[in-house]
Amino acid sequence: MDTIFFNGCIRTLDNSEKVAEAVGIENGRIVFVGTDKEAEAFSCKKRIDLKGRLMLPGFVDTHMHMLHYAFVERSVKLFDCTSVEEMLAAAKKRLEESKGQKLTWLYCRGWNEEHFDKPRYPHKDELDALSTEIPIIMVRVCGHVAVCNSCGLELLKKIPEFPEIEKEVDLDTGLLKENAVQFYSSVLEAPSQEEVEGYIRYSAKKLNECGFTGVQSDDLASLPGKNWRRIMASYKALDARGELSIRHYEQCLFERAEDAKAFIEEGYRTGQRGDHFTVGPMKLIQDGSLGARTAAMNEPYEDSPENTGIITFSQDELDDLFAFFDRHQMQAAVHCIGDRAMDMVIEAAAKSPYRKDNKKGRHGIVHCQITNPRILQGMKDQDLLAYIQPVFIDLDMNTVEPAIGAQRMDKVYAWKSMLDMGIHTSGGSDAPVVSFDAMENIYFAVTRKNISGQPQEGWIPSEKISVDEAVKLFTKNAAYASYTEDENGTIEVGKNADFVVLEKNIYEIDPDEIKATKVDMTVLGGEIVYEREVEE
Ligand SMILES: [Zn+2]
Repeated sequence: MDTIFFNGCIRTLDNSEKVAEAVGIENGRIVFVGTDKEAEAFSCKKRIDLKGRLMLPGFVDTHMHMLHYAFVERSVKLFDCTSVEEMLAAAKKRLEESKGQKLTWLYCRGWNEEHFDKPRYPHKDELDALSTEIPIIMVRVCGHVAVCNSCGLELLKKIPEFPEIEKEVDLDTGLLKENAVQFYSSVLEAPSQEEVEGYIRYSAKKLNECGFTGVQSDDLASLPGKNWRRIMASYKALDARGELSIRHYEQCLFERAEDAKAFIEEGYRTGQRGDHFTVGPMKLIQDGSLGARTAAMNEPYEDSPENTGIITFSQDELDDLFAFFDRHQMQAAVHCIGDRAMDMVIEAAAKSPYRKDNKKGRHGIVHCQITNPRILQGMKDQDLLAYIQPVFIDLDMNTVEPAIGAQRMDKVYAWKSMLDMGIHTSGGSDAPVVSFDAMENIYFAVTRKNISGQPQEGWIPSEKISVDEAVKLFTKNAAYASYTEDENGTIEVGKNADFVVLEKNIYEIDPDEIKATKVDMTVLGGEIVYEREVEE
């Protein structure tokens, strides 16, 4: 054997729920799981003492945007701003720092007027005061609303889709919504392949530091220029050189139907793979966000009585897309937050005549927030996966009821119900909207408290899940969502040697302490890709 980890509390998550003490690795795979005594009998090159710590299968985030995360890290971050003035000052500072460099655009991300003393959106004129030559955009935390300056608007007006998105652009205030936000970055200059590879490496390293050995990431439309071919080429090049430190399952999002078609016509199919990079599902966005009141609802919003949100695809279009994906052996994952959006996806999945012949037919709904008993049953009946983000508890707990009213609160963010019904439910973060820290995500799912520990009993406490259920969202269930349940997700002989070692045993400590628990080590294919420096 190459390596034996011993003296651990190794939760295998296999069907017998076995807890082992030692695990042996050869050529990147698990060849032994058992007791310390049994492990002594083997010869091996290296023995690593776990010192009694908890070892789990490596974590997988099943919905995030890792390229966009790296991009946002390098952009002007507005997440902590408490006023429009602060936002403008941050942008101005970056413009001044960048003087003399070639700056083709300025991208600012993360403002949330709900955190302002005087809640309001920024205005185009305020951005024009910063620059009339460099396109500037300030994207809200949700990613579905933004404000840009005049020269940014001029660029947007030139794209062929402008007539379709015109209603989502306010030329007076510079406010962009939904598709207009998405299309905006397609008018900006795309980063080079070298830069894209740099973004990927940066995010993969950060994910390793948080215990992740896998990620299901939505990237193809997430950088300026929207050059999906360059992004695919970057992932493949890194993978071919053995430089991808995370198993990556790409959720392939296209904003233009012709790009989605071109992708499939060029021969891409769910499941095609290199060592660590795999083509995942086609990703669609069917509605907006709750914060912007653009999530598609069957009945109007409580605080916006004329408004039922927006949809991207009509029922006919969605039916056609599902049939098209099924015919081409593609998995599909659809962003839906409102009940109307989910009803439409359930209907499209039910109607597709080719689903039964699709070997990659594990379609799913990403977010599934405003669910109800009928929708949960529909997801179960159509065998749709649920991709949930426990961290949204922290973001949304105080804003859901004012938005949709008390009568629609039955079975929203209903993760315990989903698991109890046998819906295949996996966990993600949707970073960079929020942080991808797995310990925080598990804490939110288990306690249903916000990051400050409120409310004491948790938000909708009947939907709390156990630590074990929460861990499985990010391991075993995540593997199912990417068709890798025979390779990843549990610690069993024959599977990849992907592990995370934690500072504390989160199965035994006070759940409130989970969020601050540190990742001590991350192992990918038997190689240590992250190790925390511990002072002895
Ligand atoms: Zn997302």
